[in-house]
Amino acid sequence: MFGINSIQVDVLAFGAHPDDLELAMGGTLLKLKAQGYRVGLVDLTRGERGSRGTGQTREAEAKAALEIMGADFRENLDLGDQELRDTPERRRAVIECIRRHKPQLVFTHYLQDRHPDHEGAAQLVKHAMFLSGAVNMDASGEPHSPKRLLHFFSHWMNEPNVYVDISEFYERKIRAAKSYTTQFYDPSSTEPATHLSRPEFWEDLEARFRFFGVQIGVEYAEAFWMREKIQVDDPVALFCGQ
Ligand SMILES: [Zn+2]
Repeated sequence: MFGINSIQVDVLAFGAHPDDLELAMGGTLLKLKAQGYRVGLVDLTRGERGSRGTGQTREAEAKAALEIMGADFRENLDLGDQELRDTPERRRAVIECIRRHKPQLVFTHYLQDRHPDHEGAAQLVKHAMFLSGAVNMDASGEPHSPKRLLHFFSHWMNEPNVYVDISEFYERKIRAAKSYTTQFYDPSSTEPATHLSRPEFWEDLEARFRFFGVQIGVEYAEAFWMREKIQVDDPVALFCGQ
């Protein structure tokens, strides 16, 4: 369930550090799972160089979060916290991961972000996804081309163009995110303060998902950016629900 495996999924989500997926798109992952899709979570690093917690504590927290997320598996590629960049070696690891799990839909970070590992993850997954389908790529596994890549937002964002209503799943998403206890506000902690450990962090987070919700007329939503344009064959059915 937690190590490297070959479980095939419909949806594969790549986060730079354990906690990125729950914070940015946990509601969507919960919703997709509830809709019957097979969902895999991949952490690209162990977050071992973060200001708070250790590789070990973050692994235990990721396991606790997985219990709540109910995904089909979670694995960690351990590609090096604070040095996550698009290099040939790391690209091969991500390509082989995509080929093992054969997803149709892939999620990862947005291309620009305050954290260099998040930008590194976006470039790495984008390029690996393209090359995963290349027959002569120097990587093991059968070539596989996922259909779409959607980017989620951690700090910086572009104007989103895909929204998912997560109202029903918001409470569970927050519960899963709070499994990463070392990362968030704890008055008894003696570890360095960070952007995430501010007491007002949860209110800021709620404001973001409420705002996305307001933009599509629901209580809470998660939002994404997709490079491709959306083709519509039947605007009446899509926009008028007929
Ligand atoms: Zn992160």
